[in-house]
Amino acid sequence: MSQYPQSTVADVDTAVRAAHAAFQSFSSSGVETRATLLRGLAQALEVQRERLVVLADAETHLGPARLNGELDRTAFQLRGFATRVEQGAAFVFEDDPAVAGAPPVGHPHLVRVRVPVGPVAMFSASNFPFAFSVLGGDTASALAAGCSVVVKAHSGHQGLSHTVAGLAREVIAAQGLPAGLLGLVDGPGSQIGVALVEHPLIQAAAFTGSVRGGLALESAARARKQPIPFYGELGSVNPVIALPAALAAKGVELAQGLAGSITMGTGQFCTSPGIVLVPAGEAGDAFVAQLADALRGAKTHEMLTPQMRKGFDQGCAQWAAESTLQALVAEQAAATESAPRPYLAQIDARGFLAAHQLHEEVFGPAAIIVRVAGTAQVIEVLDAVGGSLTVTVWGAESPSEDNVALVRAATRIAGRVLFAGFPTGVAVSAAQHHGGPFPSSTVPFTTSVGYAALDRFLRPVALQDAPAWLLDRKGVPA
Ligand code: NAP
Repeated sequence: MSQYPQSTVADVDTAVRAAHAAFQSFSSSGVETRATLLRGLAQALEVQRERLVVLADAETHLGPARLNGELDRTAFQLRGFATRVEQGAAFVFEDDPAVAGAPPVGHPHLVRVRVPVGPVAMFSASNFPFAFSVLGGDTASALAAGCSVVVKAHSGHQGLSHTVAGLAREVIAAQGLPAGLLGLVDGPGSQIGVALVEHPLIQAAAFTGSVRGGLALESAARARKQPIPFYGELGSVNPVIALPAALAAKGVELAQGLAGSITMGTGQFCTSPGIVLVPAGEAGDAFVAQLADALRGAKTHEMLTPQMRKGFDQGCAQWAAESTLQALVAEQAAATESAPRPYLAQIDARGFLAAHQLHEEVFGPAAIIVRVAGTAQVIEVLDAVGGSLTVTVWGAESPSEDNVALVRAATRIAGRVLFAGFPTGVAVSAAQHHGGPFPSSTVPFTTSVGYAALDRFLRPVALQDAPAWLLDRKGVPA
């Protein structure tokens, strides 16, 4: 039984109606109102940093270092969206002057503007209690676009969610903005989450979490009388390809770094590397041995929720049941240990392609090495894995035919392709893309990280022969 007040379906209705009322004025707000709000929210998080990090740590076990860093990132992205609004990103319009004469050459004066979609349902992620939660990237981008937001709290950090929502309410009140601009509901996803998505006044939903939860909510969004966009960021296995050139140049360094990436945050990142493609042969053997050694010594911590730990243990057991998989690092944690131990196993490409259960994400510090004999096999493995947030390719420095084919295969399945470093850690920037073909995203043309996230909540409208007073608004909605 939760110690926090659980919402009823009637509470969802109240929150959405308040968000709808707030939208009526906020949707036509200008640069200053939106930027001041976003900066005020960033400052509120920073002022309360100590209290918030203690609370978040007690609920998520992610540790003060990571949580302070995540709070910094959250404040940075709120301010980043404020700057984008100041640069005019939410009010971009295309002016197409009238052309005299008969169509198709002649046409009326058309101005293509964008208007905020309406109140947005936002589902907090378990694994980013700040950056993908109440004041995270989805909320920041929706507010920047001129939308109001109703957040469904994640059961893994309810105390933090209620506290951050309280801070946001204070900022909103102090700035004289309508209280319904940011609402919070809390309760089981299958009731409260579904009721939120089904509410007729909600016009879009943003979600980060499991494939199962995301699909359940997406089908509720689609089954409405008026279906709405559902921006879901779901599962991803994030293949890493170590080409011979990279192993020769810096195999030891890459093995150390990869172990850190697999175990970072106890593997509870959507960009955690789950499959590592390594060439057959001696150089590959040495890399695998170094990675296994580094993983044996790696530190992990308690997982976010007991259910997630159960999911990790079951996922590793399912992998291990595949008889052609060779376990490399598979010590079980003692019953007294709260943290799981990392898991690493190896298989050849043929075996991997035949064993479909190995293509599924196991959320936590676990990875499978797939030994490959050449480019054609690498591509077969990538195609078998399918949609992924990231693919990492080390050692593709020359424009050889093989490298061109690899890059083509990587961009076919992933939203971000890295040629150096590790997939964990997603920069908030203008060119970032955090999405990709399903299941990494339900709408692969959009991103949930970076400033292009704004586009999810703006709907184009063409104004034809509009009056001067409307054109004078320069893209700011009426
Ligand atoms: P989740 O179970 O999908 O939960 C996310 C949100 O969806 C919660 O608010 C949850 O509500 C709601 N929900 C879940 N199932 C639902 C359903 N059938 N109908 C309606 N709403 C539903 O994700 P999680 O709690 O973060 O983690 C569970 C698993 O998700 C992890 O083990 C991992 O596999 C995956 N995950 C993936 C990512 C990623 O970025 N790809 C990130 C985090 C987790 P309640 O739980 O409150 O009922």
